[in-house]
Amino acid sequence: MNLFLSLSLLGLATASSSSNSLTDVVTPQKGASCACKRLSRTFDGVIFPKNASYTEQAADKYWDIRADLSPACVFLPASADEVSKAMSLFNSCNAQFAVRGGGHMNARSNNIDGGVLVALEKLNDIQVKKDTVEVGPGLTWYDVYSALEPHGRVAIGGRLKTIGVPGLSLIGGFHYFNSKYGYAMDNVVSYDVVLGNGTQITATKSSHKDLFWALKGGANNYGLVTKFTLRTYDMPKVSTTIQVYNESGIPDFLNAVCDMALLDEKDPIAAGMVASVQYNATTKVTSASVLGVQEGISKPPSRFANFSAIPATTRINNVTTMKQWATDLDSPKQMFRVMFSHKTMKPDAEVLVSIYKAWKDAVDQIADVEGLYPTFVTNVASAPAARVALTNGVGNVWGLEDTGHILWQFSTGWALAQDDLRIEAWSRQLAESLHAINVEKGIASEFVYMGDAGEWQDPFAGIPKENVARMKEIRSSYDPEGVFSRLNWGGFKLGL
Ligand SMILES: Cc1cc2nc3c(=O)[nH]c(=O)nc-3n(C[C@H](O)[C@H](O)[C@H](O)COP(=O)(O)OP(=O)(O)OC[C@H]3O[C@@H](n4cnc5c(N)ncnc54)[C@H](O)[C@@H]3O)c2cc1C
Repeated sequence: MNLFLSLSLLGLATASSSSNSLTDVVTPQKGASCACKRLSRTFDGVIFPKNASYTEQAADKYWDIRADLSPACVFLPASADEVSKAMSLFNSCNAQFAVRGGGHMNARSNNIDGGVLVALEKLNDIQVKKDTVEVGPGLTWYDVYSALEPHGRVAIGGRLKTIGVPGLSLIGGFHYFNSKYGYAMDNVVSYDVVLGNGTQITATKSSHKDLFWALKGGANNYGLVTKFTLRTYDMPKVSTTIQVYNESGIPDFLNAVCDMALLDEKDPIAAGMVASVQYNATTKVTSASVLGVQEGISKPPSRFANFSAIPATTRINNVTTMKQWATDLDSPKQMFRVMFSHKTMKPDAEVLVSIYKAWKDAVDQIADVEGLYPTFVTNVASAPAARVALTNGVGNVWGLEDTGHILWQFSTGWALAQDDLRIEAWSRQLAESLHAINVEKGIASEFVYMGDAGEWQDPFAGIPKENVARMKEIRSSYDPEGVFSRLNWGGFKLGL
């Protein structure tokens, strides 16, 4: 598969990008001035706006152009001890800071104007053990699949190459193999964490087990994770399929997505996909694609039979390794400004098709927006995937019941800042009005996945109330000063 094809399939190829020169560097906040000065006295390589690598750090490493901001300085810790010292400095200076792992989350989550940006790329150690892998938070999932390939093993992580390990592991983690092994968070066996007061601890099933649970979906509300230990699985080869359909195939395609969500086997096969629809509002041409992966070497992969029955314009089946599959699945940074909006429903093919049609019609309202790149994305949260957490003795904060769900999402790319408000309003209103119809029909779920959510959404509102109360209690005991609520800027914060 060549790069162009993979990018087209992922809906990332054709939007025009607008570069950000960061010419309007903002005035540092008082606390950040203090912290930046003290960081640069203590550590080498702290980056300031006058330094050549500032734009690379403050802008180039982000997926969403809207995330490009102007931090007062950028600190790149090289060890957990350095993170710990920095945390003490942030406390004593009362400095606001943001943290970037792979830089894939939406705007307002991983960068900061006038504060300190902590960029984790130097925390890039990786150690493959017998049935686990220890991973620094500066790494991407491609790094993990590459390190595991010689051992014939895989981890449960991101479906695209350059997504960061830390963000995805802390918010949940949709992968191809969720139905058999659970979400990425269900496969973290240990977290090394620097707490808000600089203390370093390790949370496992038997040590700090309350924090261990809270980090499974609790995002950046508890501390800065400096090492993840992930379970790995024996899987030397995977069977893959790439299929592209034209507009007439889209109702069948969405039916096949619902079939996947409804699969509820006792011994599931590890198989899953990226399934999305692209619409070109200028040419009025729609197409859909599935990128499917299944454990083992049966070719074509059996789980995708319903997709293979639909007439396709492209169909490529292959047997390969996870690393090789991920090689071309890049999600290049700085392609466009992006707004996500997402809601969840029980699998109902007729309704899913009606949502797709309503979205396609509505895109015409914004067809004049420069660099418009609208994509309709689906994700499957199956019953067996939820059952992993319900039966493993640990659980996770989501508390999803073991029934199938479809997560539907509008991912809208565009070029110019002048359209930011218009796109957000359009995307939000459309998602909310379609969700309201599902509420009336009794097929809506309030579950919101942080990785698919727009920054206007509140994923904690869809988590069972008792879990949110427990998360807050755990936060009070591990971060009594509220450093990760008060000073750590961005992401989805657990309310007070
Ligand atoms: C193109 C694309 C494809 C995607 N595909 C998938 C997919 O296949 N499956 C899926 O589940 N999700 C997917 N997502 C969503 C993705 O998982 C989230 O955006 C995730 O947060 C990205 O992690 P990151 O490390 O790259 O992000 P970042 O933006 O660097 O970090 C995300 C959040 O975590 C915080 N954070 C980062 N590192 C740490 C740390 N060590 N300790 C504490 N907090 C930290 C940051 O401050 C930020 O708030 C995708 C997103 C994009 C843009």
